[in-house]
Amino acid sequence: MTASPSVFPYLPERLAGLEELAENLWWSWHPAARMLFKMLNRAAWKESIHNPDKMLRELPKAILTAASQDENFLRHYDLVLSRFREYMRHNGCSILRETCPAQEPLIAYFSAEYGLHHSLPFYAGGLGFLAGDYLKECSDLHVPLVAVGFMYPEGYVRQRLSESGWQESIEQGLDREAASITRLLNQDGKPMIVKVPLMEPPIHVMVWQVKVGRIPLYLLDTDIDSNEPWNRGISARLYTGDLEQRLRQEIVLGLGGDEVLQQLGIKHSVVHLNEGHAAFALLERVRDCLAEGFSLEDALIQVRRTSVFTTHTPVVAGHDVFPFYLIEKYFQSFWTSLGLDRETFLQLGTHPDAPTAGFNMTAFALRLAGFKNGVSKKHGEVANRMWQSLWLQTADEPHHIEAITNGVHVPTWIEPKMELLFNTYLGADWLDDHDNPFLWQLIDEIPDEELWRTHVWLKIKLLDVIREQSRRRFATDRAPASLVLTGGALLDPNVLTIGFARRFATYKRAELILANLGRLQKLLGDRWRPVQIIFAGKAHPADDPGKMILQRIYNACRNPELCGRLAFVENYGEQFAQYLVHGVDVWLNNPLPPMEACGTSGMKAALNGVPNLSILDGWWLEGYNGDNGWAFGDAPETGDRDQDDSEAIYRLLEERIIPLYYDVADNGIPHGWVRIMKNAIKTVGSQFSARRMTKEYLRNFYAKAIP
Ligand SMILES: *Cc1c(COP(=O)(O)O)cnc(C)c1O
Repeated sequence: MTASPSVFPYLPERLAGLEELAENLWWSWHPAARMLFKMLNRAAWKESIHNPDKMLRELPKAILTAASQDENFLRHYDLVLSRFREYMRHNGCSILRETCPAQEPLIAYFSAEYGLHHSLPFYAGGLGFLAGDYLKECSDLHVPLVAVGFMYPEGYVRQRLSESGWQESIEQGLDREAASITRLLNQDGKPMIVKVPLMEPPIHVMVWQVKVGRIPLYLLDTDIDSNEPWNRGISARLYTGDLEQRLRQEIVLGLGGDEVLQQLGIKHSVVHLNEGHAAFALLERVRDCLAEGFSLEDALIQVRRTSVFTTHTPVVAGHDVFPFYLIEKYFQSFWTSLGLDRETFLQLGTHPDAPTAGFNMTAFALRLAGFKNGVSKKHGEVANRMWQSLWLQTADEPHHIEAITNGVHVPTWIEPKMELLFNTYLGADWLDDHDNPFLWQLIDEIPDEELWRTHVWLKIKLLDVIREQSRRRFATDRAPASLVLTGGALLDPNVLTIGFARRFATYKRAELILANLGRLQKLLGDRWRPVQIIFAGKAHPADDPGKMILQRIYNACRNPELCGRLAFVENYGEQFAQYLVHGVDVWLNNPLPPMEACGTSGMKAALNGVPNLSILDGWWLEGYNGDNGWAFGDAPETGDRDQDDSEAIYRLLEERIIPLYYDVADNGIPHGWVRIMKNAIKTVGSQFSARRMTKEYLRNFYAKAIP
């Protein structure tokens, strides 16, 4: 199989390496590479929304020719290209080499979503970013891993609010040709097409590749001519609400994904499922074992020994359950081919607490994977309780769900200016060893003035970005004035700024801080020490309660009684998240415990010196140390959780956060605040990096699962 040659029409010979760079997302987490594209042409870089693939296709020949003769540009080009080639040189994973010196094991990682960059809209939220960050870190650590996911051609849903604050979705089809993705071709130069095993009528998938540093990510695409219309739509968008179509998605991802790896000649020895959506991949492994002559019993043991499953949510609706009749419709021939009867097969996915509810993908994955984990210590406990009845009948199965707390990919989420500051005080090579806790003690060496100035610069940049978006909405889209005002036009860089941004799932309680408007109004409208709040986030298109929360927040933003200190910024995604987590003063998080399995956006903020004001749930139970942010939610409950938690937020703001923020020395620096900022950075840098997390997966799971 070969990848198709991509066409950048005017690329001069001297700059041929730009194609290599543009076609590998490595550029996205290396500021020097991003700078290279920006140097080529600032306006075009901005116009392409930081997408080198798109930019190189559209740049006029004259600009490229000029660059190929510009000595300064060429110097930087040569430097970046040699760093990239050095990075790509293969030298093996030192951690796996310790445990299995002889062979190169291959891990196949399956996930329904990947959040890698905003030009690749294959994500909905945290699960996707976790997967995306994981691939980048596996690349950095030389982990021999390949990844499988979906190409969602209609993944780009732009969020727009109507004048009444109702969320509307504008679908923007993905331009597959203008992103860092390549179609895989057969030897004869035709697109590689793979047939999903055992499905009648047949379902075909086309395969695309995204290069994430050293890690290949294969994306399945059902939107091809040889599929019937219903089949073409299987991969149209993430998490369709139609149960049968959703089952077909998961069949394609699991069975089809495994088949694609086989067709590519990839012989993986370990499977890692990121959530249960791809759990059918394990069925193919059972089938392979049976084909090799194993008994069913032994096949299951073998599959368990080499399979890893990560569960991500305690929210019951977050686990797919398919009615038995649908499973029967699609798997009848499959279980016959395994030599199983209906009962035995369905039993694999039955939850004893709800035996008639249907086939539960998480129960199925937990039964077939020997290595399983939740994504924070607390979530590990919750998951063990949630699923304990699965193992009552079969005491001999290894059943403990371990905990591996999520982390964020530091090179992706550190803001480049912050990275430069760290270079000065932590040493220019701090990124190479960034999971070393000792390193982070050096944060104290940064003069308060420097950290504060960097932060203020990032805050101003955030507000600039928001204002520019508002201006465009006004001037280009002719959006009504009320939308422009609520979109952030009134924000003030001198005001203590709270950020709240995430998916608008109801358990996240986005409007909690609006619970007592009178009390909030006093804080927002304070003449000397005001507060402002920036909200952002999308509700799932089918989630009307989520959209109603969003609308109530919008109405609050529109309410002049609240002093013009609230803003809702449309279309939250990877790009705006970058500005937001870098630029606000406080990151607010108040889900209903224990629903937040881990949470990662707060880590991204803290890494950049933005302390968390968060409920004690998920990672914050491990991260909060009394001096690196603020916590609530541990008081005895009075029966009204929303009331208790909102009270606690107001009290922390009134008594601690606002006074500390506005306690500024003569030199203009709030030293007490900067101390909290530094502690926040230290905490996340040393404990909540994707590097620490990935090493735990390597040592606790992969090293043991590799045969
Ligand atoms: C990190 C991230 C998330 C996940 O945030 P949570 O804290 O887990 O809710 C969601 N969306 C975007 C765009 C992100 O960058």
